[in-house]
Amino acid sequence: MPSAPSLPDWNRAVVKVGSALIAPDNSGCSTTHLLPIARFIIESRRQGKEVILVSSGAVAAGLAEQNRDDPSTGLSIPERQALAAIGQPLLMAHWRRLFDVTCAQVLLTYDDLQRRSRFVNAKNTIAELLDRGTLPIVNENDTVATEELQVGDNDNLAAYVSVLAEADLLVICSDVDGLYTADPHQDPSAKQLPEVDKITEEIYEMVGGSHRAVATGGMQTKVEAAEKATDRGIDTVLVNGTKGRHLDALGRGEMPGTLFRRAERPLSARKHWMLHALPTTGRIVIDAGAAQALQDHGASLLPSGVVAVEGPFGQGDAVEIAVTEETDAPTSRIGKGITQYGSEALRRIQGRQSHAIEDILGNAPADHVVHRDDLVLQHADRDG
Ligand code: GLU
Repeated sequence: MPSAPSLPDWNRAVVKVGSALIAPDNSGCSTTHLLPIARFIIESRRQGKEVILVSSGAVAAGLAEQNRDDPSTGLSIPERQALAAIGQPLLMAHWRRLFDVTCAQVLLTYDDLQRRSRFVNAKNTIAELLDRGTLPIVNENDTVATEELQVGDNDNLAAYVSVLAEADLLVICSDVDGLYTADPHQDPSAKQLPEVDKITEEIYEMVGGSHRAVATGGMQTKVEAAEKATDRGIDTVLVNGTKGRHLDALGRGEMPGTLFRRAERPLSARKHWMLHALPTTGRIVIDAGAAQALQDHGASLLPSGVVAVEGPFGQGDAVEIAVTEETDAPTSRIGKGITQYGSEALRRIQGRQSHAIEDILGNAPADHVVHRDDLVLQHADRDG
């Protein structure tokens, strides 16, 4: 039997704590599970390491303050936003009691992560806060984030923050022991995985459907977060924050939960941003042969491999690339790219050879649809 992995060495971690730990019985902030987490953070800082906390619980704290106890149903968007505004200062005050250092509140929206200028701004602020020895405590700015501008769950938010802060470790504290081969509540034969080397479609299939009421995230968002972080070279740990001894073990460099190992060849900052932050406006479906050329031979995408175009999108837009076994069969996303052709032009040249483009369109700005440098593939592309 292989020995349990140990926690890789780290210097800067993002620690994510979910609502289920902060408000375990839906009655506002509780310290029940937070003390061991705070101890882990304090001890890590004592060893000269840096920590950024990503904390959920604003809505839960707001609900309790307003004496509403059913968080899972019936909250309109304005209600959720108002409750977050009520709960966020309570959440900060709650954490502040556990630390003997200056805590700094950082509220982010998806826009701050997706737009380069705002990203750099947030990055500089976090760097400055760390330089000053403070403990940054991050949450989504739920009060102003509209649906299109929302990360939506704090697992993914924590992954974005780990990239932004150039952390080398992401710790996701949840109320499960780690990643299981199936939902352990439903399948008694489910086994916990001590480590995951690569996040593949099979891993997503294993966690499909798992969902919790209080928190926005389920196991799926944790895997998405792990994918974002490991793609950028950040080891990710899923640990049971309700078990103090698991946090203490983590502090000793042991690995009590599931370790998602950082990619051996992480994506460059640009490709990571393209794959994980840049919004897409459409989708190009390609055949299996073209997918193989992209995945195995690092080729550019040519019009001959395109079987369907879902738009509208313009030249220079980011689009999803999906593959299908046959026309009209289900598709699966394999990556993203910046297209050289808008959807209308692409429909006219799809399935055709590159040398025919000029005859069909009257001009041919490129003989490829997506150049390999503007293409990033999930699970496969590790050439930076
Ligand atoms: N930002 C939300 C809150 O503070 C939580 C989102 C999540 O739990 O994923 O209530």
